[in-house]
Amino acid sequence: AIYQKPHTPLTIEDVELSDLRADEVLVRTVCSGVCHSDMHFVDGLWALPMPAVLGHEASGVVERVGANVGYVKPGDRVIMSFKPFCGQCYYCIRGEAHLCNDPGLAARGAQHLKWQGKPVLQMASVGSFSEYMITPESGVVKIPADMPMAEAALIGCGVMTGVGAAINTAQIKPGSSVIIFGAGGVGIAAIQGARIAGAAEIVAVDKVDSKLELALKFGATHAIRPEAVESTKASVTGGEGFDYAIECVGHPALIRQSFDVTRRGGTAVIVGVGRLTEEVKFNAFEMFYHEKNLKGSMFGSANVRLDFDRLLRLWKYGKLDLEGMISRRIKLGEVNEAFRAMQQGEVIRSVIEYS
Ligand code: NAD
Ligand code: ZN
Repeated sequence: AIYQKPHTPLTIEDVELSDLRADEVLVRTVCSGVCHSDMHFVDGLWALPMPAVLGHEASGVVERVGANVGYVKPGDRVIMSFKPFCGQCYYCIRGEAHLCNDPGLAARGAQHLKWQGKPVLQMASVGSFSEYMITPESGVVKIPADMPMAEAALIGCGVMTGVGAAINTAQIKPGSSVIIFGAGGVGIAAIQGARIAGAAEIVAVDKVDSKLELALKFGATHAIRPEAVESTKASVTGGEGFDYAIECVGHPALIRQSFDVTRRGGTAVIVGVGRLTEEVKFNAFEMFYHEKNLKGSMFGSANVRLDFDRLLRLWKYGKLDLEGMISRRIKLGEVNEAFRAMQQGEVIRSVIEYS
């Protein structure tokens, strides 16, 4: 499915694939989740070179590998990682490969596909709204042969992002109080992450009532509408504020509110993505005075080969619910409908199944 311009439905087209370089792999897409970050492009929130193939939360089977690839072989099942890492830069050496910004790797995303003679960008080195994906070896993570592929796909963005925000970025301690704004794919994963980390109170905030019911099933102890945030802060934390707030929507007002409802010395983690032009204000006194932490979270601060495996094992032993996050199983041709359903708050995740 090709994205040609904002506010326009994706169209299904045939594209040409390039040859593999020595360090690249060709993956046949099996499943792809539809994440709000995909829809941000269609909404015109971020500019992206066009045309592009969106989709970045996916599982697949390795079809071919370049001459220097040793990590995977044809037939291996993988989850795509939307942050391939170079392994050599400042961030990779520091153990923060999710912040690797290797310009060479980023440029590759526009070098693998062609449509009507023009280069087509693969979103985030993945481009999973397509039957095939080419990515560097570090853009795939091997998984066991018996792992179901739709569940696996969700780990590739929403689940890693949400659970990782709770356990890696926030580093929630057992017995903590946590508030999570937004109970979509990422927010539900953050609720599960807080539960796995042993939070005592987990307050989910969403403006869609059906999401609140779901939030309780995934481990929230309280599920409230936005109007009830202040009164719940008072009743749950005695007015002090939450140890942790996790923003999983991307609205400036909610980013500010996440900070405000955090206790002195607490931590607000911002996962949601807003517009480049939107601003959030903090005064020059409050930052020092309340000693609060304000942290961004990219891809759940993931070390993908380590953390995808942790998530798979949590799932295997019933501690992470992936099945419950799959609201609809659809075909590629229904991707525009999946965007509509997401906009309406009807789904946690729609998952495209290719075969
Ligand atoms: P989603 O659409 O599935 O979920 C968003 C939820 O927020 C919905 O349930 C919606 O009802 C709720 N919501 C919207 N406005 C609200 C409001 N004013 N108050 C309370 N709730 C509100 O989206 P998602 O896929 O879960 O993604 C959430 C955000 O995370 C997006 O901005 C996405 O781009 C971002 N994201 C960030 C990363 C990262 O690495 N930091 C990765 C993936 C996604
Ligand atoms: Zn995503």
